[in-house]
Amino acid sequence: MDNQYDVIIIGTGPAGYTAAIYASRANLKVLNFEGWQPGGQLTITTTVENFPGFEKGIDGKALMAEMKKQAAVFGTEYVSKDVTKVDFSGQPLRVYAGKDEYQARAVIIATGAKPRKLGIKSEEKYWAKGVSACATCDGFFFRDKKVAVIGGGDSAMEEANFLTRFASKVYIVHRREEFRASDIMLDRVKSNPKIEIITNKEIDEVLGTDKLTGLRLKDTKTGETSELAVEGMFLAIGHTPVTEIFEDVEKNKLGYILHKENTMTSMAGVFAAGDCVDHRYRQAITAAGMGCQAAIDAERWLENQS
Ligand code: NAP
Repeated sequence: MDNQYDVIIIGTGPAGYTAAIYASRANLKVLNFEGWQPGGQLTITTTVENFPGFEKGIDGKALMAEMKKQAAVFGTEYVSKDVTKVDFSGQPLRVYAGKDEYQARAVIIATGAKPRKLGIKSEEKYWAKGVSACATCDGFFFRDKKVAVIGGGDSAMEEANFLTRFASKVYIVHRREEFRASDIMLDRVKSNPKIEIITNKEIDEVLGTDKLTGLRLKDTKTGETSELAVEGMFLAIGHTPVTEIFEDVEKNKLGYILHKENTMTSMAGVFAAGDCVDHRYRQAITAAGMGCQAAIDAERWLENQS
């Protein structure tokens, strides 16, 4: 069988690529599944200003492209498929992409996280008809229009600032008065004349006809409702880990994979790194660091097995 590897890495964000660099440089035969969003979340961000080594920042897509090329130098193979099923019940570990089966002695899960949704029906109705979770992807469509960004973290601040390149006005709608966002990001937003912050409001309903025309807001203190006329709503309310297919791997109640020994999960030979594990730091650099740890742990584990 051709599809046999020492290590299969699932996911290609900073965690997956760094694991690939380390594992393939350790002379292991490595296959990296690129997954549903090749390059991960950084490919839909703008400039990454806090990844060490880039005084002027670096475009997120460019950073991921460099990591991918770096892992390829050491022999990492890539496959542009989604993993649909896994079987970690014994050796070899089995990973499936549809009908295709791949085998490995160790697996590193680095599937990251995807944007969280509000969970209201009208959000689905107007998805891609005004509702988006990616300003970088969709901001362009809102030239000279009013839009709202939902959330109070760094992502919301970043998205709002970015959207002012196109939109005539950007509202940040946040459900509390305090912000999770860092001071520097919040200050940038506050000094941007195109941005207005609305606090203590949650989204009661997305309004529209064939496309989004406004939001019904509900005051989180008084319960009063009001309407905000916008043509776009950008969600920036955090993320959920992409871990559904790993049914037998132990996770916490939010779905984040748990480490049992260093970066090894509850399944022997299965390691995990990055945003599918980490709900606290969620940075490119911390994901990359954990990807490195997982590759070193996998390598040592494999050595002990043989
Ligand atoms: P986050 O920090 O978890 O913030 C999520 C925000 O969404 C919170 O303000 C939360 O409100 C709000 N929220 C959650 N569920 C909601 C709901 N159902 N309805 C309304 N609001 C809701 O997530 P993030 O902003 O994506 O940031 C994640 C991590 O990435 C952070 O560590 C951040 O620093 C980092 N990051 C860094 C940069 C940068 O440095 N350039 C850029 C982006 C992200 P509450 O506060 O009330 O819970």
